[in-house]
Amino acid sequence: MIQKDSLERWTIDHSADLYGIRNWGTGYFDINPKGDVIITPHKDQKSSISLPDIIAGIKDRGLEMPVLLRISNILDRQICLLHDCFDQAIKNFGYTGKFKGVYPIKVNQQQQVVEEITKFGDQFDHGLEAGSKAELLAAISFMTNPNACLICNGYKDEEYVDLGLSALKLGLKCFLVIEMPSELELILERAKIIGVRPRIGIRIKLATRAGGHWTESGGDNSIFGLNISQVTEAVDQLKKHGMLDCLQLLHYHLGSQIPNIRDIRNAVVEACQVYAGLVGEGAPMGYLNTGGGLAVDYDGSHANFINSRNYTLDEYCADIIETVMETMDSKEIPHPNIITESGRATVAYYSVLLFNILDFSTKTPMPIPAELPADTSEKIINMLEVHDSLSLKNIQECYNDATFYRDDIREMFKHGEISLRERALAETIFWHIIQKINEEIPKLKHVPKEFNGIESALADIYYGNFSVFQSVPDSWAIDQIFPVMPIHRLHEAPDRRAIIADITCDCDGKIDKFIDPHSMRSTLPVHHLKDGEEYYMGVFLVGAYQETLGDLHNLLGDTNVVTIRINEEGDYEFTRELEGDSVADVLTYVEYNPKSMIQRVRATAERAVRQGLITAQERTTVMKAYEAGLRGYTYFER
Ligand SMILES: *Cc1c(COP(=O)(O)O)cnc(C)c1O
Repeated sequence: MIQKDSLERWTIDHSADLYGIRNWGTGYFDINPKGDVIITPHKDQKSSISLPDIIAGIKDRGLEMPVLLRISNILDRQICLLHDCFDQAIKNFGYTGKFKGVYPIKVNQQQQVVEEITKFGDQFDHGLEAGSKAELLAAISFMTNPNACLICNGYKDEEYVDLGLSALKLGLKCFLVIEMPSELELILERAKIIGVRPRIGIRIKLATRAGGHWTESGGDNSIFGLNISQVTEAVDQLKKHGMLDCLQLLHYHLGSQIPNIRDIRNAVVEACQVYAGLVGEGAPMGYLNTGGGLAVDYDGSHANFINSRNYTLDEYCADIIETVMETMDSKEIPHPNIITESGRATVAYYSVLLFNILDFSTKTPMPIPAELPADTSEKIINMLEVHDSLSLKNIQECYNDATFYRDDIREMFKHGEISLRERALAETIFWHIIQKINEEIPKLKHVPKEFNGIESALADIYYGNFSVFQSVPDSWAIDQIFPVMPIHRLHEAPDRRAIIADITCDCDGKIDKFIDPHSMRSTLPVHHLKDGEEYYMGVFLVGAYQETLGDLHNLLGDTNVVTIRINEEGDYEFTRELEGDSVADVLTYVEYNPKSMIQRVRATAERAVRQGLITAQERTTVMKAYEAGLRGYTYFER
């Protein structure tokens, strides 16, 4: 179905272009000459590992697909990059403040993520951001570096405030950021009781708003933070208590995945004025926290588009440093330390969802019989004429006629005027016409609107062994686009087009929007399935936000998780394997008790024995199967 110059041999470079892997893969993901997707977490290509090799290793260890693969080196590299880029900008501009990165736990709360970031990030004094008590408790348990920042955002009750103040007493650089005016009173009161001078930050609502999915965090109507008059009230309150010296940090968060660098710059400009104002009021300050928002280029287009960004990491860092420096210099204020709370950009690249294709269904119609039965209805003969006469010139007319006859035939069928076989024949001819039209579409100068859906209507459905709701919830909930592609056979030309359906019984359980260098595709080029051979696909860049937002739709549970570390020589080790939920696990989540379930089924089986429906031996077999089912993986097992 895919056109290609038949003289030209398909190469892995064609696949690389087609799937955009060298654009969104940013060097971490590419294709090797064998046609396999490879991961290269280090600068040196020698250390590449192919995904099919990793899958073989996963299978050897007895784990089934789907598997969430985490590559811990990628996490390390991303932290390194962020610090390198900021440090370079600081050096280039002669900025006198420091860069202090913190990782917002909510973006991926998994223990191994937080552990890896604090361990590896130690050399950069990389800290953590917590947005709730649970996140703060997790953060405190991993933070040891007194120079790394611990930022406490989110709404705070007494317990939260006390925890933050204790962290400070323990020697951690812990800031309590005021999100609501009433929190200040509470902090001052608790600090007095506990006997510690708090480090206080204020989160502000900026007037600046950004484009993108998650912009509600910014702007006047943002639910978070203080508006400017509330900021001045807070300053007055601090002055009244003789605590203004505790005000050290200004924070804002414009929203996540900000595609346009101009919005980022505008926000910094506005925040700098507030910062300068607070210094003018007599607060010591010292820290400017610009929040998250650093975007991931999911589609690799490098454009001002919700799934992309129109800037590089270098530009992001340079713009922030330069903008802050200009404002501060003009007011003769010392350069603040810059904190960013980059979550998405830090963890997105680190996880890949791997799954196998279980089956497919195709719209490719049966051949039209060479001879139609003698009593074939007039309407069907007319339709066949449309098929035979179709050309580029009369394409629109043929389309109209074909749909007209099809609808007519369906009506006749409803009234019992034509048979089941005749209707089947009509549908076959109709789809042949649509297929012919689809082949002509690329030759048209102007494509009529009604042809837009043809490509996806003709696409195959590839059934993937995963759940969109569990593993890529944002794909369903907010139409976010993740790169999806086969992870092998990339030296072969993909000869089918498909949408990907998952194994939930939900019509929303599918992926039918795919990245394209120019806009978006409604189908994905894939290879035909081979008998007795698995076809593996990957959803990439799923490390941010997907894991804990995922749910148990259709009781498909957590997938198996495998973590690998690849060393510079290109060896790798499985550093962690986590078995996904068993059926009994997910049933327990929704308050079933597997033990009593077994008891009840046993009673039913015993009744069946008594009634002579099954033998006692058969009862044993039934019970064994039932119990094995409870222990099994919630996904399709081969
Ligand atoms: C969610 C959030 C972040 C993370 O944003 P990213 O765009 O993922 O980097 C940072 N700060 C705050 C306050 C947040 O709520």
